[in-house]
Amino acid sequence: MEYSRSFRVKPGKKVDLDNLGADFKPDNLDRKEVEQQFGSLTEKLRDLQHLMYAEDKRSLLVVLQGRDAAGKDGTIRQVFGPMNPQGCRVTSFKVPSKIEAAHDFLWRYHVAAPRRGMVGIFNRSHYEDVLVVRVHDLVPKKVWSKRYDHINAFEKLLADNGTLVLKFYLHIDREEQLERFKKRIDNPKKNWKISGADYSERPYWDSYTKAFEDAISKCSTDNAPWFVIPANRKWFRNLVIADIVVDAMEGLKMRYPEPSVDMEEIRRMYHEAEEAE
Ligand code: AMP
Ligand code: MG
Repeated sequence: MEYSRSFRVKPGKKVDLDNLGADFKPDNLDRKEVEQQFGSLTEKLRDLQHLMYAEDKRSLLVVLQGRDAAGKDGTIRQVFGPMNPQGCRVTSFKVPSKIEAAHDFLWRYHVAAPRRGMVGIFNRSHYEDVLVVRVHDLVPKKVWSKRYDHINAFEKLLADNGTLVLKFYLHIDREEQLERFKKRIDNPKKNWKISGADYSERPYWDSYTKAFEDAISKCSTDNAPWFVIPANRKWFRNLVIADIVVDAMEGLKMRYPEPSVDMEEIRRMYHEAEEAE
């Protein structure tokens, strides 16, 4: 199955999340096999990141969105964990601080965008400003409704500047969310993650659905596509995201730069040094 194509949202296409299986996986997919496949994908990811860092021309921005307990943190740990921390920066966006809120909504995201050669991961992102903000009327409709165009322009700016932008919506269903909340209660190591907001947001499930659907439809572009990932099964979610990122990075056709020194001369000096020992 070609994941990059299957889960990519075509520009302008309406998305109907309630009718997309969060449980989905291809019938013939065997979990054991997937674990091996996943291992080789994360190795490839690490090599591609190394190449990106060395080439120092392009950058990658991964945007992760999803409901509470959708698996954003787990995806970062499991899919991007094997990357070299030196070439990677994760930014988690919370309720804006006073100073952030005093600027235009994109300000805090733009400064966190990856510089040349780097991988940037957004754990929540500028999309919160058309998600939680819209669901809870934190600004009037006439303000948030203009933001889709601002977001598309912002992402085009990043793309024109050499950034590969890939956006993932981690799709879980209501039952799965409740089950994951239960695990947070039952596992003492997960208690710290529990937030009252998990429960106070749940009654807004349908409003969030509508907000996610709009954001994904209006802002999936050729420059910065959205992918809707069936995410009830963590191992399938990880496989698909790793596969899509590898595919897109390979498409950049990056190359190691030519050495900045005369290699013949360096070899000669090396032999001299060796002989002098
Ligand atoms: P968590 O990711 O669980 O640590 O929670 C972060 C919280 O910050 C979530 O409840 C988000 O909805 C909230 N948040 C993130 N960005 C914004 C924003 N731009 N405006 C309002 N709330 C936000
Ligand atoms: Mg949370």
